[in-house]
Amino acid sequence: MTYDVIVVGAGPAGSIAAYECAKHGLTTLCLEKSPIPREKPCGGAVMYRGLRILGGHLPRSLVEQKIYGLRFSLPNGTKSEFISDKMIGITVFRNRFDEHLAKRAVNAGSELMENTPVIHASTSDDSAKVRLKDGREFKSKFIIGADGVNSVVSRSLGLRPQRKDLTKVGLGMESDFYVGAEGVNQATNGNPSVLEIIPSEDKISYGWVFPKREHLAIGVAGSGVHMRALRPTFDRFYKNIEKKIGVPLTLEKRRTCFLGGDGLGSVNVVNRGILVGDAAGFVDPMMGEGIAYAMQSSVFAADVITSAIEEGKYDSVQLSEYHTLCKKEFSANFQMAAWAGSKGTSFAERVLPSVNGFKLASDVMAMIARGEIGYADIPYVILKKLPRQLPHILQQAVQSRILSSH
Ligand SMILES: Cc1cc2nc3c(=O)[nH]c(=O)nc-3n(C[C@H](O)[C@H](O)[C@H](O)COP(=O)(O)OP(=O)(O)OC[C@H]3O[C@@H](n4cnc5c(N)ncnc54)[C@H](O)[C@@H]3O)c2cc1C
Repeated sequence: MTYDVIVVGAGPAGSIAAYECAKHGLTTLCLEKSPIPREKPCGGAVMYRGLRILGGHLPRSLVEQKIYGLRFSLPNGTKSEFISDKMIGITVFRNRFDEHLAKRAVNAGSELMENTPVIHASTSDDSAKVRLKDGREFKSKFIIGADGVNSVVSRSLGLRPQRKDLTKVGLGMESDFYVGAEGVNQATNGNPSVLEIIPSEDKISYGWVFPKREHLAIGVAGSGVHMRALRPTFDRFYKNIEKKIGVPLTLEKRRTCFLGGDGLGSVNVVNRGILVGDAAGFVDPMMGEGIAYAMQSSVFAADVITSAIEEGKYDSVQLSEYHTLCKKEFSANFQMAAWAGSKGTSFAERVLPSVNGFKLASDVMAMIARGEIGYADIPYVILKKLPRQLPHILQQAVQSRILSSH
């Protein structure tokens, strides 16, 4: 049988792609190398932008915490908080969240094969083909490479070099620490609805503490070129957190993984083939956030492939619309994040405290997390909202002047 679409990988990107293709009436096969549920090193923060793609249909049991804000704890001891009255995201356990998405795709009509590693992918004028580790081959009209940051599909199709360029990828290490509901409460001063981000002074760019119901997800991430420093940095980081929160942290397992990068600077389509999610490198270059981008890029890929099948056109020119859609949606965010990331901690220390506590800043942060605006819209939104919030801002500025002069 020749499928319309073969999707390689059943992470958020692959399962959303499979769901969308099946929903569009395409015969879809999703191939996943691991048994599901599978582990994925991740902080498990899913921004509302990504949840919107699910149309609000997520079982309550998968939601570990509803998130309303971000707190940046800077090395100089200052904190900047941006808390919204709107939900900006949730925390999840990736094994259960991803399992839900995979089942959702199957319920929509996609076929799923677990324990099925793909070792090669190719495309020709008349079909796309994948070869499995066990020697079997499957054919389709299109292939979607959703096989993550170490994508076999991207390399087989000649879209990425055989050896990873460590200057273009990030590397993270994390663990979920069981502390019980009481421990989460103590660690978060009774407010587990805030993601804590801790820019680091050394070469690893930042760390995080994300509250779950009975666990704290703690991790660090930085550029792939600083791989050696990762483990000692992680250990130092979580031990410092332990001292700070006064809750014993027992390390069960360190998990590490590359983070994708440079998605828009690379070619992500060939004749009959598209890369999505981490395989394409769609990850925020400063924060390493990738789940929502993975989901959104897969919606675009499924739409573009559906049109291509309707029109009977299978070449990369037809598929280039995918690049246009991703660029329009992601490029301002990625550029701004890369720029801010390149400035390092000193930038965060200069800029974040100066907007700390301003409702306008929290509103803007929430709008970005919820996908209501992109980074490029920030100046416009500020200009639009500023007149209404100006009296409040001036009042806060005067108060903080008075306080700092005492
Ligand atoms: C330490 C760390 C923390 C992170 N924290 C966050 C966070 O809090 N929030 C956030 O938004 N993002 C976070 N990210 C990024 C996020 O995890 C990724 O962007 C996201 O998982 C991308 O989804 P994906 O479906 O593209 O890839 P993946 O989730 O990696 O899924 C790829 C799938 O393909 C399968 N696969 C791989 N090779 C093959 C093959 N040859 N054949 C068949 N199947 C294959 C894999 O088993 C996997 O199931 C973090 C990343 C790291 C490393």
